[in-house]
Amino acid sequence: MRQKQSDPKPAGHQRPPPRRIYEESQGKLPEGAACPDCGASYRDGRWTWQAAPADAYSHVCPACERIATDYPAGVVHLEGQFVRDHRDELLQLLQNLEARERKEHPLKRIMGVRDEGQGIAVTVTDAKLAHTFGRALHSAHRGSLDDPPTTSERENLVRVHWRRD
Ligand SMILES: [Zn+2]
Repeated sequence: MRQKQSDPKPAGHQRPPPRRIYEESQGKLPEGAACPDCGASYRDGRWTWQAAPADAYSHVCPACERIATDYPAGVVHLEGQFVRDHRDELLQLLQNLEARERKEHPLKRIMGVRDEGQGIAVTVTDAKLAHTFGRALHSAHRGSLDDPPTTSERENLVRVHWRRD
C-alpha cells in the first residue's frame, strides 16, 4: 500500500517564496528580472551577468528565448574553397570573438554551426554579432564581405556573407 507523502518541512519552517513570473502584458521589463536558463539579470535597462536579487522575477532572456525557439537574429555564411580548407581555424576565430563579446553582452551568442553546400552557416542571437563576425573575418583574411546595413527592423533576419576562394 502506498503511503501519502507528508510535507517533510517542519512546521514553522518558511520556504523561500516562489519566483514571481513576469507578465508580458505589464509592458517594460521590471528591474531585477533574472533568466532561469542562463542566469543573466536585467539591470538598468539591459541584460548583464550581475547576480540577480533573491526576489527577482523569473523571465527568460531574449537570447535563451531565441535558442529555445530556434529563431536566430542573424546568420553568417562563410563560403568558398578557403573556408573548406580552414574550417576549424575560422570557427575558432568566431568562437573566441563570441566569448569576448558575451562576457560584456549576455545576449550576444552563437546559436549553431552547420555545414552547407558552399561552406558554413553560423547562426547568432544578435544581429550586431553577425556584423562583428563578418568584419572580423574580412579584416583577418580579406576575401569579400557582403554586410547588409543594420536596420531598426529587428524582426528581419540579418544575413552576412563572407567569401574567399
Ligand atoms: Zn538566458
